[in-house]
Amino acid sequence: MIQLYIPLNFLGVLYREIKQSLTDLDKMFTLMEKEREVADKPDAQPLPVADSTVRFEHVNFAYEAARPILHDVTFEIPAGKTVAVVGPSGSGKSTLARLLYRFYDVQQGHVTIGGHDIRDVTQASVRQAIGIVPQDTVLFNDTVEYNIAYGRPGCTHDEVVDAARAARIHDFIMSTPRGYQTMVGERGLKLSGGEKQRVAIARTLLKDPPILIFDEATSALDSANERAIQAELKSVAEHKTTLVIAHRLSTVVDAHEILVMELGRIIERGTHQQLLARGGRYADMWALQQSAEGELRADAAVMAK
Ligand code: ATP
Repeated sequence: MIQLYIPLNFLGVLYREIKQSLTDLDKMFTLMEKEREVADKPDAQPLPVADSTVRFEHVNFAYEAARPILHDVTFEIPAGKTVAVVGPSGSGKSTLARLLYRFYDVQQGHVTIGGHDIRDVTQASVRQAIGIVPQDTVLFNDTVEYNIAYGRPGCTHDEVVDAARAARIHDFIMSTPRGYQTMVGERGLKLSGGEKQRVAIARTLLKDPPILIFDEATSALDSANERAIQAELKSVAEHKTTLVIAHRLSTVVDAHEILVMELGRIIERGTHQQLLARGGRYADMWALQQSAEGELRADAAVMAK
């Protein structure tokens, strides 16, 4: 019996190790495209974690030399505050997030964390300091538990459950056939956009990084779901230095500063109230969104009759 048990146990460990390396390999291949763009300096040190203030200073950036994307972008996210970026599709919002995560290096200017140019410190330490809640979370073909625990390898089941509760996905998980052991992903249970984002929030809670990037989903969630996600995000972002790429203005009203981007430039900046009082592009976008939402509510009321 013991003889049989040991090889099986060994196979289990081997299986887990192979699966882990395949996952890592998978991740490596998806990142490799980007990895070629940046390399650590030979003397690069880890980023000190004391101050999480993020600054973009006169940043110019192009993916291809012939087509400049960002022009003289300067802003600061003071430690623990939220800065939101809004603007039309293609204006350069996600590019800011990619530069902060150091998928690419800027061609002019600086991106700094706590006063350290992120080109001078190790990439790994920058990424360790940042949690991303992306638009579309990639789920591994594995259990819900594995997918959440991915935020902090080696964490306990209780820690996974605590994170899932805080991200308000615990009850949903418990309603699935095998709870935390339910398989998800392409070959398992399909999760909705909102559920996937909650998994990403739970992962980020476990990682507990000082800096957060939240790329709001462009695909519309129903408004109850959207409000819930916003509330959860707000509690995750509390005391974290947060960059929000917003597609709906309702997400940004409480931000410390809102940046309005167009064609790679910041064309307006301020708080929600300041930007409304200014009566410029943001105020127009706000009025447009309010009337669109009003129409949607009217349509819903007609449908309900
Ligand atoms: P959206 O709201 O649609 O997500 P965005 O404001 O986030 O748009 P970005 O994704 O930052 O816009 O893109 C800014 C510009 O950079 C776009 O013109 C886009 O085509 C271009 N771009 C983005 N990624 C690349 C890339 N990898 N290579 C070349 N050009 C790119």
